Amino acid sequence: MNILVINTGSSSLKYQLFNMETEAIIAKGNCDRIGIDGHIKHVPSNGKPTLKSDIPLPSHSEAINFVIRTLTGPEHGVIDSLSEISAVGHRVVHGGRKFAQSVLINDDVLKAIIACVRLAPLHIPANLMGIYACQKAIPAAPQVAVFDTAFHLAIPDYAHVYPIPYAYYDEHDIRRYGFHGTSHRYVSEKAIDYLGGNAEGMRLITCHLGNGASLAAIKDGKSIDTTMGATPLEGLPMGTRCGTVDAALVSVIAEIEGGLSIGEALEILNQESGVLGISGISSDFRDIMNIAEFNFDEAVEVEEIEDLELVHRSRLALDVFKYQIAKFIGSYIVALGGVDAIVFTAGVGENSPSIRRGICDWLKSFGIFIDGDKNGNAEGNGVTDVTEAGSSVAVLIIPTNEELIIARDTMKIVFSTESRK
Ligand code: ADP
Repeated sequence: MNILVINTGSSSLKYQLFNMETEAIIAKGNCDRIGIDGHIKHVPSNGKPTLKSDIPLPSHSEAINFVIRTLTGPEHGVIDSLSEISAVGHRVVHGGRKFAQSVLINDDVLKAIIACVRLAPLHIPANLMGIYACQKAIPAAPQVAVFDTAFHLAIPDYAHVYPIPYAYYDEHDIRRYGFHGTSHRYVSEKAIDYLGGNAEGMRLITCHLGNGASLAAIKDGKSIDTTMGATPLEGLPMGTRCGTVDAALVSVIAEIEGGLSIGEALEILNQESGVLGISGISSDFRDIMNIAEFNFDEAVEVEEIEDLELVHRSRLALDVFKYQIAKFIGSYIVALGGVDAIVFTAGVGENSPSIRRGICDWLKSFGIFIDGDKNGNAEGNGVTDVTEAGSSVAVLIIPTNEELIIARDTMKIVFSTESRK
């Protein structure tokens, strides 16, 4: 059984085709700049050449059609016909209060997803375009929606209700939803397996640290709190997003900038803040680290003064990032009544020893210690245990794999629906 996983953004579409007997990736790729001009990268795993090409992609529909032609074509293809795609799994960013689990897409489900557009107006329309395009292009394949918010729907009311007038919650569904749920679920399941397999009583804090970043507190295998909120702006500082700040800053910034609208001020908090805002360098952590590692002692030239300011700001951006993460971890130790393991994942969490070390340095008073050598040399696909001997809490690095969770959920749902027929 082959399953195609689709992840659409407003101008992009990422895909992976899985062989579910082995869970191997048969091909993967992405279409970028949809609606602007168009670029595709397609990587087959059968030895055929990679395709990288600028091609016109006026809409998601054209992008899906191009992906399908490429998957089945003679030069870069990996399957002979569309009938070899048994089902399609879609990442859907928001499932509102309705979807606590992945679901087979039918007309009622589509209506319910459309009703969530007001909660994620930038993302869900793109997800819907991906679903419609696949329904048209591969009509025989069942489609499944896997929601970023589903894993966090179990968060108890005292942690998901905002202290604002209750009608916003009751009548308008405004609450903490959280995102990255598929990633937090995947790495927490892996961690539970690694730590003995019994979710009951297990207390985990999973740190998804990429361009977007969030933490989740997980007890008995369920999310009981997370840092992102009604929107993905809340919580940790991120590549370009500010995370949790004084809400009144929206009007303060609007005023400083000479009378911006709320939307324009929010744009600054969403697009120009986070580590980009502080460093003035980049939203990419590698770029910031490159500058932050500059050696002050070797800088003697006066012209380097401006550079030194950028070094200072880059270091500060990373310090703010690490401190805020550690602070939230502290609060989640309260929420969980202790902690058994801290799990690092996503681009920064998986690849940056210095960020992991910097976060753990704040956590020593909880008996959390990371091993210098293991942390420095960590690499690999499975669970990497970087706990220092004597630490009372495990520290793990687990690469995330949201696509695999989407493929597994899709297979489970399609199989159980078929077997009920
Ligand atoms: P996204 O949220 O876009 O899925 P990723 O999880 O791929 O993001 O993470 C991207 C981030 O990871 C980038 O900021 C990148 O600089 C950072 N990153 C990747 N490798 C490293 C590394 N070796 N050291 C530090 N940061 C890294």
